[in-house]
Amino acid sequence: MHGYCFGSLAPVLTPWATAAGCSVTVRMSTTDGNARLPRADTTRTAVLALLGRRGPMSRAQMARQLELSPGAVGLVTKRLIDQGLVEALDAEGAAHHSGQGRPGQLLGLVGRAGRAVGAKVAADRLTMVDMRLDGEVVRSGIEPFDATAPLAVAQLASRLQAFARQDRVPLLGVGVCVPGMVDRPDLGNVEVPALGWSELALGRHLRGALGVPILVENGVKALAFAESLYGLGRSHRTFALVTIGRGIGFAHVAEGLVQRGTYGRAGEIGHCVVDPRGPLCWCGRTGCLEAFAGQDGLVAAARRRGVIGPRGSVETIARAAARGDAGALAVFSDAAGRVGRFVSATLAVLDPEVLLVAGEGSAHWRYWEPAFLSELRSCAPDWSGTVRVEVDSWEDTSWAQGAAAIVLATPFDQRPAAGGLRHQVLARLVDESA
Ligand SMILES: [Zn+2]
Repeated sequence: MHGYCFGSLAPVLTPWATAAGCSVTVRMSTTDGNARLPRADTTRTAVLALLGRRGPMSRAQMARQLELSPGAVGLVTKRLIDQGLVEALDAEGAAHHSGQGRPGQLLGLVGRAGRAVGAKVAADRLTMVDMRLDGEVVRSGIEPFDATAPLAVAQLASRLQAFARQDRVPLLGVGVCVPGMVDRPDLGNVEVPALGWSELALGRHLRGALGVPILVENGVKALAFAESLYGLGRSHRTFALVTIGRGIGFAHVAEGLVQRGTYGRAGEIGHCVVDPRGPLCWCGRTGCLEAFAGQDGLVAAARRRGVIGPRGSVETIARAAARGDAGALAVFSDAAGRVGRFVSATLAVLDPEVLLVAGEGSAHWRYWEPAFLSELRSCAPDWSGTVRVEVDSWEDTSWAQGAAAIVLATPFDQRPAAGGLRHQVLARLVDESA
């Protein structure tokens, strides 16, 4: 992703920022399902979430923000410093080791207190990142992986296990994103036709194998999550994201929160029929958006036009387009126009500040852009002309970062998607630090 940076001092960069409004809601909420938190734990959670969301601040600022007495904040922060979760910082943000410090001294989260592994599963590769509590990515790797193989889930578990054990910082959990539907991140039941995974209890399998909290999410939503923390979300609280690549994906972030819908299926636009007379889609229907604009749809269209031979790929089409081949340009233009037209309706429905385009297909954006923008602008309502369109470069690690961030944000996520794992992750953080 362009322009992203990670560091312990950037207040909006930490995954904990997803506890949107948590500095208020956490302290008011003493219940989580049937479990009741002791008052001290509630305050501790509120202090940690506030530091995660706003970045380093003084005890006096915390007391004001949380409407607590300076004495109460002092007690909790002393305990957090003793546990190694929070540290005193000097004016430049460096750790400061002169005791408990003055009331006005800045306190910040200790990145090395905990970490999460995030992974992006694609049909042919696995991308993993190791991300610290303060949002710093310390390791990442991309390796070939056959997600369609019969033992793919067992393989995935062992790859994650091998990657996760390479660091002594406490592992709070593992986040995994997949190119399909996920009922809830904490349950992790997935439906991923593209990988041949049907009614798969991925979360349960991985929890059994790794013995740590596992959160599973749809890839586009994980990417939107990363964007909401490290990218567009820094300046836009409400945005839409469309991804082009093997499939066509969509996500909507409203007021800093990724919208999941009732069953986690919000944004599943790829198999909406845009022309019933269109080509056959691999899902069995005809004329799905993906049948026109997904990777296989582009290849099929290029073959029909004689642009590529039987072994040609999207890269072959792009090379032909680069040479000015009219057929190749028409393949991209037709796909782009259909996606632009479809997405124009979402602008009217969602009224986002910005529309972000991402995904591996964005590498060929110059061939998509003219028809996409033209159809988007001509089909959307007049007022939506002010919606900016931005393109993000494609990096698998960005998706994996989103998956890791979901884990790190979990203790402070008040929405049902966090489920029962909220306290498990928090308990690992506090126990490991004690
Ligand atoms: Zn389809």
